Amino acid sequence: MSELGRHDDGRAALRSTLRATLHATLHAARDFLLPPVCASCDQLMSDPAEALVCGVCWSRLPMLPAPRCERCGHPADEYECRWCALLPPFVRAARSVCWAKSGTALAIVHALKYGGWMRVAEGMGTRMARLAFPDDVRRERTALVPVPLAHARERERGYNQSGLLAAAIAVKWKVPVWNDVIVRGRATESQTRLTPEQRRRNVSSAFTVAPRLGARLRGAHVVLVDDVVTTAATLNACASALFDGGARIISYVTFGRAPSIGDRIETTGDLLNGNSRRH
Ligand SMILES: [Zn+2]
Ligand SMILES: [Zn+2]
Repeated sequence: MSELGRHDDGRAALRSTLRATLHATLHAARDFLLPPVCASCDQLMSDPAEALVCGVCWSRLPMLPAPRCERCGHPADEYECRWCALLPPFVRAARSVCWAKSGTALAIVHALKYGGWMRVAEGMGTRMARLAFPDDVRRERTALVPVPLAHARERERGYNQSGLLAAAIAVKWKVPVWNDVIVRGRATESQTRLTPEQRRRNVSSAFTVAPRLGARLRGAHVVLVDDVVTTAATLNACASALFDGGARIISYVTFGRAPSIGDRIETTGDLLNGNSRRH
């Protein structure tokens, strides 16, 4: 590459870093300086300590109904668990706070993911940290690992929402966050329009473990963190990378879970009456 080409590359990288930093700073400033408005319903908040989402919205989260499967946390019926069948054998347990299909839960997820409301992660992470995991998971969990974003997407957004959630959970669980253990290779296509099989293929080779960080994985029980789980294709691909890299067991924690056809979704929260911006 010519001197000029290298120079241009350097300048482009610098510009993009500056843009990401400015982006993150502006969002952080907005979180703290503007009057506290709920990031989900736009109402003025009476308790600004509630991490940018009002008490009404937090109370309207559509919780997953009991009884739930002890392993995967999915609402269970009397027969075999269809959701467990999606998980590789080295996945010990999965837990999610609520359904995320529409309504309040999705508004909260979008506020963090696309709206730049970084502080929403505190309230989401606090609720994720309270989820009841089996005793062995509580005893053994060594570290939290956020599902990484593609580099381009993280630069554009200025942060990785799963990293913010992991950081919020880590404070409560008192375990470390291993941020750069998983490396995301080629950019994956957006998952929304793909069938489950296409999703699996889309992500199956997208993750590897960073070679210089692999040693810390040996024998560890790692908890993967993501904002929402749909078919578990992304989480499973990350778990396979961690397992291949030496981890012994992997568990999952997400804020939302997308219900699939046939799920028992009964809930007292706001799930299907789409407009969450009206109490
Ligand atoms: Zn609200
Ligand atoms: Zn299950």
